[in-house]
Amino acid sequence: MLADCHMHTYLCGHAIGEPADYVRAAASRGIDLITFTCHVPMSDEDSFSGEGIRMRYDDLPRYRDLVAEARAVGEGEGVEVLYGIEGEYFPEESRLTEQWQLLEQESFDFVLCSLHHQLPCFREWLYRLGSAEAIAAAYFGLVAQAAKTGKYDSIAHPDLIRIYNTIPPFAPETQEKAIREMLAVVAESNTCLEVNTSGLSKQIYELHPAPAILAWAAEAGVKLTLGSDSHCQEQVGQHFPEVLDLLSQLGFEKLHYYRGRKRFDYAISAS
Ligand SMILES: [Zn+2]
Ligand SMILES: [Zn+2]
Repeated sequence: MLADCHMHTYLCGHAIGEPADYVRAAASRGIDLITFTCHVPMSDEDSFSGEGIRMRYDDLPRYRDLVAEARAVGEGEGVEVLYGIEGEYFPEESRLTEQWQLLEQESFDFVLCSLHHQLPCFREWLYRLGSAEAIAAAYFGLVAQAAKTGKYDSIAHPDLIRIYNTIPPFAPETQEKAIREMLAVVAESNTCLEVNTSGLSKQIYELHPAPAILAWAAEAGVKLTLGSDSHCQEQVGQHFPEVLDLLSQLGFEKLHYYRGRKRFDYAISAS
């Protein structure tokens, strides 16, 4: 069993290809289950939207249909296709009301949570904190806060603050205290962390979260989901074999996925 629980559709404006081709790519790479998790629509245009960031609210029915079409293709290919969404967390929760209503109304299988600090509104909020160290620590605090809301199933790329230059690059070890505190909260909160393999293809060429953080996560008993964050069919399952090896070396025995917002697990079989 192998699942890729993070991928996009062209509705967000920065992913390409037909969803059905993502399904065929999964089949060719021995992946049994995929979950589409396109970027959640948000009508707060000034802060979260703009050209090529996320689908519009009125794209949702189209998104539902695209995933249903992909599911039909998956039936022929031996790949189960699930319907998820990549949600957002933001320090001012009052600005998330509309999104949280949507998460309750729509019958998603899986809800990821992203803290996209590179969004101008998020950066503005973080920069008020002063030093880069303070910003990094606050970011991990916000990851914990997001997990505590209970609104999301897994926190996507939980050390994303290490890229996109909101602050200068830093080694996870310099934030060990804040990161371990976050991991303890996540482990308690019944929320997973995502191992996101897209980092291996961009900027720092490292996993999200970094291997050091994963080692601490293993100690804290954190549960994991696995996702490629594909924005094109070539990225489906990217870097999975090496990452599965690493996870077993770190002592993880299981990975998780969600269907109907319920968690399931499967054994990691290293290559
Ligand atoms: Zn994207
Ligand atoms: Zn994504």
